[in-house]
Amino acid sequence: MADRDGFIWQDGKLVPWREATTHVLTHTLHYGMGVFEGVRAYKAAKGTAIFRLEEHTDRLFNSAKIFQMKMPWDKATIIEAQKEVVRANKLESCYIRPIVFYGSEAMGIAASTLSVHVAIAAWPWGAYLGAEGMEKGIRIKTSSFTRHHVNINMCRSKSVGTYTNSILAHQEVAQDGYDEALLLDVDGYVAEGAGENIFIVKGGKLYTPDLTSCLEGITRSSVLTLADELGLQVIQKRITRDEVYCADEAFFTGTAAEITPIRELDNRQIGEGRRGPITTQLQTLFFDCVNGRVPAHEDWLSYVALD
Ligand code: PMP
Repeated sequence: MADRDGFIWQDGKLVPWREATTHVLTHTLHYGMGVFEGVRAYKAAKGTAIFRLEEHTDRLFNSAKIFQMKMPWDKATIIEAQKEVVRANKLESCYIRPIVFYGSEAMGIAASTLSVHVAIAAWPWGAYLGAEGMEKGIRIKTSSFTRHHVNINMCRSKSVGTYTNSILAHQEVAQDGYDEALLLDVDGYVAEGAGENIFIVKGGKLYTPDLTSCLEGITRSSVLTLADELGLQVIQKRITRDEVYCADEAFFTGTAAEITPIRELDNRQIGEGRRGPITTQLQTLFFDCVNGRVPAHEDWLSYVALD
């Protein structure tokens, strides 16, 4: 990823892609304390637009607050910087990655005196779990690795360190040929995917784990709104893995994963073993929203004038 043309926003200015580097003694590289976001821009009907930019930026600032990382920029600057990166790289649709990390002034875990840096990169990124998966559904497996307890790593923070747990889970199941991992919480209830929230459909109602050990996903929140508008009831509660086995439908939500149907968990076929009707309905509506075809949700879009 380092060897590309283009620009990355780094500490207040755009720098050529290959020059957006940091020292090997960067604190975050050693101890994992940093926070980041994953945001998408779509080529919408009226031009390129970033989906729910405000909400992603709010979450980034909350993530930093939770870890007591002092953001050196205000929200308006970071919002504008994300647009600037899309514009500078002339990206009609892309994934945007803001990251906040500590500098290299000192080693050791004391972090309060360290400088805080912000970088924002953007690049084209297609369907995270594969175009075929979006249509036919993916095969997932419960990981033997448990999702963080709420008092181990802060679950409301989208933090760098959280993702060692995600990577362990993903690589474990990917090595056995599955598309993605499902993680359970410390009590054995369904938490989320390695990088996604999960929903199931049963008897025409939607169910999703309540916000304890899963990330408060912005796609999850969009689905809650859309489901409500479609007259679908959503129940947020503890869910067991066998409730997922016996569901009529299941799907993952996430900025990268968008709405990805799940056709199998732990070698048990879910429902008909393909994208179900409610998943299809929500997926279609979601893509209509991100692509600017739903006037009622224009407020979710921040347009980026590319020229
Ligand atoms: N859970 C985890 C662990 C994630 O990494 C993500 C992706 N950010 C999500 C859920 C979904 O969050 P969002 O819809 O805001 O991208």
